[in-house]
Amino acid sequence: MVPVGEHVFVLGGAGFIGSHVCEQLLDDGHRVTCVDSLLTGSVDNVATLSRHPDFRFVEHDVTRPLSQWPDLPAPDSVLHLASPASPPDYLRLPLETLRVGAVGTANALELATRHGARFLLASTSEVYGDPLEHPQRESYWGNVNPIGPRSVYDEAKRYAEALTLAYHREHGTDVAVARIFNTYGPRMRVDDGRMIPNFITQALTNAPLTVAGTGTQTRSVCYVDDTVSGLLALWRSGLTGPVNIGNPHELTVRHLAEEVRAVTGSDSTVTFVPGAVDDPRRRCPDITLARTALGWEPETGLHDGLRRTIAWFARNVHSSDRDIAV
Ligand code: NAD
Ligand code: UDP
Repeated sequence: MVPVGEHVFVLGGAGFIGSHVCEQLLDDGHRVTCVDSLLTGSVDNVATLSRHPDFRFVEHDVTRPLSQWPDLPAPDSVLHLASPASPPDYLRLPLETLRVGAVGTANALELATRHGARFLLASTSEVYGDPLEHPQRESYWGNVNPIGPRSVYDEAKRYAEALTLAYHREHGTDVAVARIFNTYGPRMRVDDGRMIPNFITQALTNAPLTVAGTGTQTRSVCYVDDTVSGLLALWRSGLTGPVNIGNPHELTVRHLAEEVRAVTGSDSTVTFVPGAVDDPRRRCPDITLARTALGWEPETGLHDGLRRTIAWFARNVHSSDRDIAV
């Protein structure tokens, strides 16, 4: 168990998932230092938290050591979520993505090791690549093209996992690896380019929903509150993992587009656009380990999660003048 009042560093805390992690930690009585370079995140995501006495925001690129901030108190835990995560983001930021997965993870592990802090890596279902095993269990080694355009993200996370386990073996660092599956919810950037933000924005603006390829590829989407409770359950557990954190309700991309249309009540049509290179054809987590070892499973159904996400987008979509990446 993690005692109340822990000082937790959240790297990437001004991003979509990271900001929800910061918020939950503060609600649970912890002190939070959010470290973020704002590469793909925004201070808007933590604007309300900034008034909290136990919250501090530090603008910093974690590919550089944190030692330039000598007044920072020692962390009890380091949660490493810093990395571009949307395919359009990591495809336009290939070197930054590799660097934060490699150098950024090394710096984060050094920090945790130096202070005897628990370390949690936000890894990804992308380590399974285009999976030949279905659903994906943690024991599956994956099927990743090491030189394709997506490899900058997939291989960065695979390296980050390797480094995390090496620190554990070599230095005894207390580590945890979470393999997060597709997560959605409020605070995803309107122009982030992932499937759900695109479909919602398109539906709300009566633009055609851009389904990539045939739309028969599958994803299993998890509402952000569930992902955060899974991550924090793993953090509190003392387990090393890796542990899959995701919702096993698998849907085709085409079906998801139809669900978004139905929940928004939009008249948008569906249009088919070229599929992405090396796009995984199927993705669904086996969450037996999370269920049994963490007592965790997702609680938010698709309809409810979409309703809450759409309500947030409806308040934010029109204030954005940014283009949607497809
Ligand atoms: P996001 O882009 O909204 O958040 C990532 C945050 O990391 C941003 O605030 C960004 O500014 C910050 N960042 C990037 N590089 C940095 C650097 N060098 N130094 C400091 N900060 C840096 O993405 P997200 O969806 O919230 O993803 C958060 C984490 O969870 C990522 O590590 C991602 O790989 C992982 N993940 C997310 C999903 C998902 O579906 N959202 C799925 C699997 C894994
Ligand atoms: N996708 C789509 N339309 C879009 C954006 C994405 O059909 O406007 C597809 C994408 O090709 C992939 C799936 O939706 O098959 C999920 O993509 P996303 O970018 O959300 O995340 P990924 O799982 O690929 O990391």
